[in-house]
Amino acid sequence: MSVPGFHPFTGASDDLVQAGHCNNWIGGELVDARSGARLDVHNPRHGAVMGTVADSDAADVASAVEAAKAAFPGWKATPYKERAQILYRLKALMERDLDRLSWLVSHENGKTFAEGKASVLKGIECLEYGCSLPNMSAGGQIEVSRGVTCKVDYEPLGVVGCVVPFNFPVMVPMWMLPQALVAGNTVVLKPSEQVPFGLLHLAMLAREAGLPDGVLNLVNGRKDAVQAIVDHPDVKAVGFVGSTKVASLLYARGASLGKRMLCLGGAKNHLVVVPDADLELTAQNVAASAFGCAGQRCMAASVLVAVGDADAQVDAVVAEAEKLVLGRDVGAIISEAAVERITGYIDQAEKMGAKVRVDGRGKQVDGKGWWVGPTVLDGVGRDWPAGCDEIFGPVLSIIRVKTLDEAIAIENDNPYGNAACIYTTSGFVAEYATARFEAGMVGVNIGVPVPREPFPFGGWNQSKFGHGDITGMDGFRFWTRARKTTTKWALQSDQNWMS
Ligand code: NAD
Repeated sequence: MSVPGFHPFTGASDDLVQAGHCNNWIGGELVDARSGARLDVHNPRHGAVMGTVADSDAADVASAVEAAKAAFPGWKATPYKERAQILYRLKALMERDLDRLSWLVSHENGKTFAEGKASVLKGIECLEYGCSLPNMSAGGQIEVSRGVTCKVDYEPLGVVGCVVPFNFPVMVPMWMLPQALVAGNTVVLKPSEQVPFGLLHLAMLAREAGLPDGVLNLVNGRKDAVQAIVDHPDVKAVGFVGSTKVASLLYARGASLGKRMLCLGGAKNHLVVVPDADLELTAQNVAASAFGCAGQRCMAASVLVAVGDADAQVDAVVAEAEKLVLGRDVGAIISEAAVERITGYIDQAEKMGAKVRVDGRGKQVDGKGWWVGPTVLDGVGRDWPAGCDEIFGPVLSIIRVKTLDEAIAIENDNPYGNAACIYTTSGFVAEYATARFEAGMVGVNIGVPVPREPFPFGGWNQSKFGHGDITGMDGFRFWTRARKTTTKWALQSDQNWMS
């Protein structure tokens, strides 16, 4: 890679490695924020600074939009299949740099290397979907009346914006970029200021793959940069993934300006376990869902609703949680503030009467860093903060109920609607529960029911603002508009209302 000023990350172990300064990537150049403002980026495993990132404002966003606008006519005129070929090359380059990207994600986010790698691989899978779009998304044409044809073409919108969260630095952007780019849009993307380096590496790979300058632009920063993207008159649509608070604010802001907005928010996911559930499968799966990625996943289990006499299943989950080794199986927490928030919920639930069956408070690995170990709170009340709020950490709240209908009512009452799962060996119980959950992604004996490509990803209720899902064909539709053309070349022999 020969972009002046770009120095690939060299970390290949858990040791602290400096990544330097993360500039913006605008029009094929690495540039600092015009104001010169910078923020520290931390390695959560060490609780130490690993670099800095540009803290951009509206002026930086304006120059990124200008670059994207200038690149749009050429990119739109590039044949569809040629646009996809660049993504094929990007896929090969991501595979070449798989370990490097995975270490980078692990360092800036705190995930274990294995989790970082799994997330990059999932990003590659999303990219594969984009590669195959030319084969799947052709418009259609039929003769609608004698001598009259109608056809539909899906055209790009122009300059579009993407805003992403900290928890999957490379994967979540890949929910949006393949569809947006293959469709012919040019993009201004705001990475999370907490994890900006993985995306910069990705942008360098995209350039190496042949993506023309200005087609993908990265503007780093915080709220000001995001609002400037949403407000910019030349940005036609914005895809956002992050917390519900910000998702709902941005959705309203963009929609009031007449923009197309799709904003994915937070979650509180319920796993319901009934007494006939398979012990081993349930225990492993619940623990993986609640404690994988240190619970910092919008699909993580955070409430286990135990129906009837499910003591054996709950005990098995507790035993699984106790087996997990912090730093090896469970990664770090993104910030010190997040550790305080998470432990605050545990303290409060304990005071309110919950039994702390597994306690992850006060943990460190090698005497440093930001950590919370797997935590299991038993006997949580359905209205308690630990039972209702998104904690976004490795904390599983167990709520005890007598009947399946009570469990479903608890799930239905929560305002979010990302994921829900039933653990059972009964097909009837599985169908009964999945048909009644108020969630966009439901599982049977699978605690992280992420739909794999080509099925689309997206929640319901307060977990998503806007129409349609973010991946799959819904994503393609979001980033395009349909042009319908009706054509007649000869005088018709019969007359009808279209004549
Ligand atoms: P966040 O909402 O704090 O930040 C997301 C993005 O918005 C970041 O780029 C950030 O810089 C920006 N931002 C923050 N505050 C803003 C404001 N007031 N105005 C405009 N922009 C603002 O989220 P996070 O902490 O980075 O990520 C964790 C959250 O994301 C969790 O709630 C999690 O559930 C959610 N998430 C949801 C999904 C999903 O698919 N529904 C996927 C991943 C993460």
